[in-house]
Formats: sequence, C-alpha cells, structure tokens
Amino acid sequence: MGVPLTWRVARLRERRVETPTAQTLVLSVPGWPGHLPGQHVDVRLTAADGYRAARSYSLAAPADDDRIALTVQRVPGGEVSPYLTDVYAEGDPVEVRGPVGGWFVWRTDSTAPVLLVAGGSGVVPLAAMVRARRDAGNRAPFRLIYSVRTPADVFYADELRRRIRDDRGLDVTYVYTRQAPDGWRDEPHRIGPADVHRHGWPPELEPLCYVCGPTGFVETVADLLVDLGHPARRVRTERFGPTG
Ligand SMILES: Cc1cc2nc3c(=O)[nH]c(=O)nc-3n(C[C@H](O)[C@H](O)[C@H](O)COP(=O)(O)OP(=O)(O)OC[C@H]3O[C@@H](n4cnc5c(N)ncnc54)[C@H](O)[C@@H]3O)c2cc1C
Repeated sequence: MGVPLTWRVARLRERRVETPTAQTLVLSVPGWPGHLPGQHVDVRLTAADGYRAARSYSLAAPADDDRIALTVQRVPGGEVSPYLTDVYAEGDPVEVRGPVGGWFVWRTDSTAPVLLVAGGSGVVPLAAMVRARRDAGNRAPFRLIYSVRTPADVFYADELRRRIRDDRGLDVTYVYTRQAPDGWRDEPHRIGPADVHRHGWPPELEPLCYVCGPTGFVETVADLLVDLGHPARRVRTERFGPTG
C-alpha cells in the first residue's frame, strides 16, 4: 500500500535562468520524503478568491535534503507556468504534492544501457537521471538525444557540456528543429529513424529507453523505437501535453 500523498507548503529559495523562456526553481519542501529520477510533483496555486489550478512538473535533480528543483518552460497564455516563471517570488508559498510516478523512473542500481530521448522541456526528468547516475557513481552507458528548436533553447547547456567531458559513458546528441549552429552537420529537422538509429543503442544491447516531451513527439519517437526492434516494454514514455 502506498502512502497517500498530501499537499505540502513549499517556498521558493532560488531561481536560475535556463533560457529566455525557462527557469529552474529550487523549492524547500519541509518533510520531503525523497524521490527517484523520473518522478514528478503536482504544483497547486490558490488565488486570493480561492480559485485553484494544479499542474505537473518533473523533478529536475536528486533532492538536496528538503530542496527540490523544477524547470518550468513558460507556455504563452498558460494559467500556471507564466506565474511560476514571471511572478512567483523568493519566499512565496505554493503547494506541492509528490513524488508521483512509478514507471517512468530509472533506478541507480540498474546496469543496462540507457537511451534518453528528449523533446524540448522533456529533457527535465531525463536530466534528473543523468544527474542521479553521476551522484551514484553508476557506470551504465547513457545516451541522450535532445531535440530542441535552437541552441538558445537548450536547458542546462553548460552543465551538459561539462558532463559530456567528465561523466564517463555519457553521450549527448542534439537534433535542432528550427535553427542549428553554424557549420552543424545536419539541416534543422524533426527527429527521424536515422537519428535514433545512429545515436541510440541497437535493440540487441537491450537498453532501457525513456522518451519525454510533447505528446506528438513522444508518440512519434516511441513508434520509431518499436519499429527499430526495441520491445515496447523497454520503451518508457512521459507526455507533457500538446505538441506546440
Ligand atoms: C507528468 C508531467 C510532467 C511535466 N513536467 C514539466 C516540466 O518539467 N516542465 C514544464 O515546463 N512542463 C512540464 N509539464 C507540463 C505542465 O504540467 C503544464 O502543462 C505546462 O506548464 C502548461 O501549463 P499552463 O497552466 O501554463 O498552461 P495551460 O493553462 O494548461 O494551457 C495553456 C495553453 O497551452 C497549451 N499547453 C498546455 N501545456 C502545454 C505544453 N506542455 N506545451 C505546449 N502547449 C501546452 C494548452 O493546450 C492551452 O492551449 C509536465 C506535464 C506532465 C503531465
């Protein structure tokens, strides 16, 4: 029997700019029970008139005592994300419930090769896996394919650059959909079978595959992986919402 999830009051302790439209929020959550990489929380806002809105946000990193990190992409016209990125101030409360999710998780004692495929802000729970691997000293080979509109939209860009250099067994490949850096090897394009074939793992190595992003992206990539021969049970997916 799982422990029933309760709403806890969290407060903003730190804000880090990731891109012009996305920020990492570090919250302190007294009594936080800990979590696994891949899990998420529900965040609930309550307006002065009592109106409430809740949305899910992936946990971006292993917990640091009672501190958790979320990375929020501002969705224009959205109810919750523009509040979190533009209005929510240090010390302010929000309610948080979690951790949520038991399937889209990676366990730090796992030794199987891992393929992570991110679409846009779908990189958040996958970055949590990369960070947890490093913290645990796990040597499972990891490959991350990160589909993103332009170089300026990459979350955790400096950290990923550093980790490619320092975290043995971690490879990161970018697939740009709108604008690539000068001299990039490919024209901007949506991820396709050649990208997954070239930068993923062959099914014979029995990798665990984690795919996260907008709904349409996740469905396309999960189908590609199954078409390439990966058993559906080894392809774990998390859908963040509509394709933009
Ligand atoms: C399990 C899970 C984990 C998630 N983790 C993250 C995360 O780590 N970081 C993050 O930024 N978001 C994450 N999301 C998405 C998040 O929950 C919200 O859907 C998103 O922030 C938009 O909420 P909003 O209230 O601002 O917009 P809403 O008021 O809900 O929607 C406004 C408009 O934007 C459209 N829309 C809603 N969601 C999206 C979206 N994701 N992309 C494009 N258009 C959208 C709606 O159809 C609507 O037209 C996650 C979602 C799920 C289900």
